[in-house]
Amino acid sequence: MADWRNIMDISAEQPTRCDVIIRGGMVIDGTGAPRRSADVAVSEDRIVAVGELSAIAADHEVLAEGAVVAPGFIDVHTHDDGALLAQPEMTPKISQGVTTVIAGNCGFSLAPLRLRAPLAQEFRYLGEDSDYRFDTMAAYVAAFEAAPPTVNAALLVGHSTLRAATMDDLDRPASDREIASMRALLREAMDSGASGFSTGLEYPTNRAATTAEIVAVAEEMAATGGIYTTHYRDYVYDIDGAMEEAFEIGRRAGVQVHLSHHQLDSVDLHGRADQTLRRIDRARAGQSVSLDVYPYTAGGGAIMEEFVAVAKKVVITRSATRPDCAGRDLSEIARDWGCSPLEAAGRLKPGGAIYFLQDEEDMRRILSYRHTSIGSDSLPFEPIPHPRLWGTFPRVLGHYARDLGLFTMEEAVHRMTGLAAAQFGFVDRGVVRPGAYADLVVFDAERVIDRATYEEPERRSEGIVLVMVNGIPVWRNGMATGERSGRIVRRELRI
Ligand SMILES: [Zn+2]
Repeated sequence: MADWRNIMDISAEQPTRCDVIIRGGMVIDGTGAPRRSADVAVSEDRIVAVGELSAIAADHEVLAEGAVVAPGFIDVHTHDDGALLAQPEMTPKISQGVTTVIAGNCGFSLAPLRLRAPLAQEFRYLGEDSDYRFDTMAAYVAAFEAAPPTVNAALLVGHSTLRAATMDDLDRPASDREIASMRALLREAMDSGASGFSTGLEYPTNRAATTAEIVAVAEEMAATGGIYTTHYRDYVYDIDGAMEEAFEIGRRAGVQVHLSHHQLDSVDLHGRADQTLRRIDRARAGQSVSLDVYPYTAGGGAIMEEFVAVAKKVVITRSATRPDCAGRDLSEIARDWGCSPLEAAGRLKPGGAIYFLQDEEDMRRILSYRHTSIGSDSLPFEPIPHPRLWGTFPRVLGHYARDLGLFTMEEAVHRMTGLAAAQFGFVDRGVVRPGAYADLVVFDAERVIDRATYEEPERRSEGIVLVMVNGIPVWRNGMATGERSGRIVRRELRI
């Protein structure tokens, strides 16, 4: 009997055969540890061995001589709820090496909301009115699983979505009854596979929510350990107060707080990133706080006068009233029309814009902070997208880590894999080790770079050789393979 068990143990550790083996690469495992030369063996959806594996035979061999083998990247901040269903190939993401996206950020999620009235323009991030057809998160999850996309997704429930589903007027705080209804919807969503709750407190659909309302809804997750991600109330003027409100909500509701796209959006705040990061350090001493950033100095979203007022430059990406203005600089439009940029913005609404708001030095400091993960914050349905849709992850690897030396390639990979998985509580993802899911990216560390620009935002990144999701290759040598092996991923651990 003893011999029989020994044989089983040995074969479990070192199989003699596997489905796929990636040979000869340099493994950067996602923990931040230095790279090492190793083969990676995969069977079904898991990594089964890492090391010198010449004794193992495989049905498929991938030669990765000179390339890096890393965990697939986790895009922690997306608005991909609708794209996951409508554009299941998810080319902007898999072409960058992204294998998991977190959807439902900034207070907007596709579920649970069946549309009764035309939606506010911010909801257009996620699709058309007709895309709002999910009364419950269970219905959204069923649609996802019936026709899976190429990438995994974790789902957040948006506060604006809950408010639109339960309130007749979003310009006031919710009543106790409405809060109870939102909590019931959030509970259903968490039971159906959601990972947390998000707010977007700068947006008109969410702005009237008081701290007490947000705490009361977020408290629903205290027992299940959901995460609270927040586009907090103010990135322009009182950022300190807005961050403190986020921390207070986390403490009172008993949940982890994740600050979305931490950035400083006005000239008055520029140069203050060190102070806001110290504020995060202080909060972290007493509660669970995490954050993400995108590696650009321009943001994007709906046309809003609040952002026009403080931006250095505004480019219109979409206008319902004047589609011909897409792609134009707002100050030029205003000059042609003989009015102020604010007035022109009012006439162009509803629509989308890219706002140049931030200081490069602040962004680099936030990017360099060791608790910062990476989120693209990209909007998949914009006719003229922000370049972050196609370029975020290769830009961090190639531009900021390799070319500028802001941090090591190992650190860059850790932020977009192991750290992101820890922040969002994913088990067995974001790491290359036996037993983990085979979400993998093979890339050329010398060549990896973003090519998307503000002028040509849909240029594909270079240097991503192979992307596997749950053990299935979805991207190889610059082309989609046609396989779609994404799954719903859920938060299982708290930090
Ligand atoms: Zn946001």
